Amino acid sequence: MLQERVSSDIYLFTSDLYAQVTAGLIVTPEGAVLIDTMPFPLETEQILQFLTRRSTPTVRYLIFTHYHADHIYGASLFPGTPILAHARCREHLLAHGEEGLAAARAEVPDLLESVVLRLPDITLDNGEALLQLGEKTLQIFWAPGHSDDGIAIYVREDQVLFAGDALTPVPTVVDGDPNLLKATLERFQDLEPDTIVRGHGEVILRGEVQESLRTAIRYLDLIQEIVAEAIATSDPRQRDVLLRTDIEKCGISRVALGGEAPRLHAANLRSLYNRLLRSRAEQAPRTPGRRR
Ligand SMILES: [Zn+2]
Ligand SMILES: [Zn+2]
Repeated sequence: MLQERVSSDIYLFTSDLYAQVTAGLIVTPEGAVLIDTMPFPLETEQILQFLTRRSTPTVRYLIFTHYHADHIYGASLFPGTPILAHARCREHLLAHGEEGLAAARAEVPDLLESVVLRLPDITLDNGEALLQLGEKTLQIFWAPGHSDDGIAIYVREDQVLFAGDALTPVPTVVDGDPNLLKATLERFQDLEPDTIVRGHGEVILRGEVQESLRTAIRYLDLIQEIVAEAIATSDPRQRDVLLRTDIEKCGISRVALGGEAPRLHAANLRSLYNRLLRSRAEQAPRTPGRRR
């Protein structure tokens, strides 16, 4: 696991084991706030060791940026620490959390054996909340688009934005909505953060912030244009060519996220296409009864 300092008393941990998942730690004299956990307890354990080495007071809050499994399976290592998340994060975990954990455990039993699912204790709605701890002010706001329960955390004093999976090396919308994600990224642009911590991949530093947001927005526009064209064409071969448009044509490197980028991109195109096709079918007027 990679560990680095992002700002004064803000630390970042990046998984070696799965998709460069990140977790953030904000340390104050009155306790720490942990933003997400590692995909496997083995690595979250190392965050606990880091806290012990620094003789940091307890973790006062754990924040889930969204309900996806790769960010929350370390929560049982912080028993008694209240978890803060969007209300829909709690609903998703209540509805599908145990089932998802059982499926994940079947794939990697050794790494997930000790995981006990924890639900958020404090929930937010679509608005905004302020959390003041020590000298840090955390502005927590709804940031949907990658999923409907996404929240982002802006540490005002340091101008560090924790974007969750609303910003990743490849924007992913298979469980979300590209237009909502675009609106979220535009809100990030307006905030003008100094640093962005993404849910996966390297931290984005000053000077790269606006360009990385523009790249993500352009990508979302392009995939929607491609899908609209694929829907409009009556030629199935042309449609297949469109749905296999290379990720590099959409402005994102093929090697992003450890080479996972083309697969994530193909899934975006396929899911948007299927969704648009379904909504067209639902909107289509019923065929009128045949007249005599
Ligand atoms: Zn996610
Ligand atoms: Zn993720």
